[in-house]
Amino acid sequence: MTLADQPHEWRPERFMVIAAHPDDADFGPAATAAKWIDAGSVGWLVCCTSGDAGGEDPNADPLELAALREHEQRAAAEVVGYAGVTFLHMPDGALANDLILREHLVREIRTFRPDAVLATDPQNLFPRDAGINHTDHRAAGFAAIDAVYPAARNPMAFPSLARAGLAAHKVRRLYMFWTNDPTVRVDISATVVRKLDALRAHASQIKDFDRIEGWTRESSGSLGKDIGVEAAEGFHLIIVDEDDEEPESA
Ligand SMILES: [Zn+2]
Repeated sequence: MTLADQPHEWRPERFMVIAAHPDDADFGPAATAAKWIDAGSVGWLVCCTSGDAGGEDPNADPLELAALREHEQRAAAEVVGYAGVTFLHMPDGALANDLILREHLVREIRTFRPDAVLATDPQNLFPRDAGINHTDHRAAGFAAIDAVYPAARNPMAFPSLARAGLAAHKVRRLYMFWTNDPTVRVDISATVVRKLDALRAHASQIKDFDRIEGWTRESSGSLGKDIGVEAAEGFHLIIVDEDDEEPESA
């Protein structure tokens, strides 16, 4: 029995999920987020874009679609139990890990001060060798990593944020979701239903919910089998700072 065979039990006091699009967080780590929140953690969701290109009708109004998708994401976030959602309103389909996005993410991290950040694994270019991971998912993942280290913790990075009263902050752990290489598995047997309820809120994006439910139960069931539970979500965990380091004063 190795550690990877056991359900992952560590829980952050505060965590932030950084996602490219509305619905990513719910297809991603929603059940883990719900489990942690139920146990007393405080979670915050950041959506880099509002999903204004997430449709197939060339005559649709992107601003109307963005408003609808923000509404859907807020409803889903309520199901999961996040304390709040921030939309950065970056362009859907054209997200770039540039200084603008990174400064936004550093501002969010220094404001909310999470122990852990959950973001898409940007190294996952070909998910299970059966498709291509969306460019925005990769850009959001790289931007989240670069915001966590070194920018959020470096008081000399983005000095205008420090001048605005947002002190440097150390995020101790990164949990990369949608990874081809999960190193930890969280038991979500009790909250997989909340993930499904959150997904149901994204009606504009999901035409066949039964298919999504089947896929969600199958993929979480197969990750769960690895650790002997009904359902699990997998993450590639990066411990940026050991837990026993002296916590900084906020
Ligand atoms: Zn997405």
